[in-house]
Amino acid sequence: MNIMSIVDAVYKVLPPFIQNMAISYYGYKIKKERFNSSFYDKFIFFDESQYYSSIDLMHYQDKALCHLIKYAYENVPYYNRVFEKRKLKPYDIKNQMDLYKLPIITKKDIRENFNDFISTKKSKKNLKLGHTSGTTGTPFEILWDSNIEEVNNAILWRHRSWGGFNFGNKYATLLGRSIVPSNRQRPPFHRINYPWHQYLFSSFHLADKNLEYYFEEFDKQDIRFLEAYPSTAYILAQYLEQHNLFYEMKAVFTSSETLLPIQREIIEKRFCCKVFDYYGSAERVMFSGECEKHEGHHLCLEYGITEILDEKGEPVSTGQYGKTVCTGLYNYGMPLIRYEIGDICSIQEKTCSCGRGLPLLGPITTKAEDIVVLPSGKMVSSSVLTHPFKPMKNIEKSQLIQEDYDQVRVKLVKRPGYSDDDTRILVEGLTERLGQEVEISIEFVQDIAPGPNGKYRWVISRVPIVLGSGKIENLYNEDNKEHVKE
Ligand SMILES: [Zn+2]
Repeated sequence: MNIMSIVDAVYKVLPPFIQNMAISYYGYKIKKERFNSSFYDKFIFFDESQYYSSIDLMHYQDKALCHLIKYAYENVPYYNRVFEKRKLKPYDIKNQMDLYKLPIITKKDIRENFNDFISTKKSKKNLKLGHTSGTTGTPFEILWDSNIEEVNNAILWRHRSWGGFNFGNKYATLLGRSIVPSNRQRPPFHRINYPWHQYLFSSFHLADKNLEYYFEEFDKQDIRFLEAYPSTAYILAQYLEQHNLFYEMKAVFTSSETLLPIQREIIEKRFCCKVFDYYGSAERVMFSGECEKHEGHHLCLEYGITEILDEKGEPVSTGQYGKTVCTGLYNYGMPLIRYEIGDICSIQEKTCSCGRGLPLLGPITTKAEDIVVLPSGKMVSSSVLTHPFKPMKNIEKSQLIQEDYDQVRVKLVKRPGYSDDDTRILVEGLTERLGQEVEISIEFVQDIAPGPNGKYRWVISRVPIVLGSGKIENLYNEDNKEHVKE
């Protein structure tokens, strides 16, 4: 048992009041770390730079790029090798037009050369480990330095300010963390991070019978901002819809999954406000978000350089879709230059009427996933289910198929080193989130092929959602087919 699982085990048996204190203590520590003077300097700068002209923003990127290239050549073994092999020197990359001289890197390159991507100037213990299960449920790790942490935080809070939400405003969060023990049957279904004015609601208790307590608490605390996955915000909005109720929010912030049009429509209608969707890659190379005009996602140019390329690696014309290749401008701990993020997107020709110099992305074709519905009627967002996969190093690919309310089949592509222990830990993690009544079966397969749009469907649910008295078919029922590799 490692230290984190001991902490988790102790947390679970504490009374809610003490859990609030524990969360608030942690929140206080994080607040002190994250909101330092360097953060405020960056926040103030980004508040101005969003209105720079596109030429000025490009110059800003080029300057940051040259700095990063020189640093990577001198301090990052992987890039030093790349430059030597191609007989390049840092001055050969004068601006982003020269980036084509460097190779495109993938997750596989990073995984296979992990230590060589780390700057020799940084101590590994001072870098923060970030992991993601990605859109395919394939675990992937990355290291962040304190610089990118500050930038990411400043860009995130700038986006929140677009929705009128500033630090200090009360808000509700419904994300993937297991905040309230899963066997808890009665309210409260939330815990409080006092220094942040943040009310952390459980994403694991979203049964129809519990949801009235969620709204009671929103009302009692006068919560006007919500941060959630599209699927969890949609579950709340569906509850309001079923009971013909409205709850007035000022803004709802969604991320991590593709926000489906039907989800946006119901969320905006029932919460009487706009949804401010955003996208931030775990690799910290790209950030985009909607402003108050909602004409598309603004690509935050200060954060990184984004190239949209065709199959041959040539840039596509404006408005055309292509693969997304990103260079993060701030992570000196583990620089990623020309990293293929695995998404398809486009940059629009039209600019936003808000006047910001940040270009607009076309609609992103990313994850389209389903909600898992449990025998109790409780709904679990697929993002929540990615959590047990995050520490699993011996899994290449995964897919979850819900055959019936009490049956979930997990398809796995193993890596060498996979053992029965991995199965046990994974099944325990899933049971923690799905409950004992769901039978989890593991099926080992050679490969899991992507769907017709080139995207993996990570969760495929074949059961309708039950809400109140009615049944609602799962959103993608028409293409609920597994994609078998020929
Ligand atoms: Zn705008």
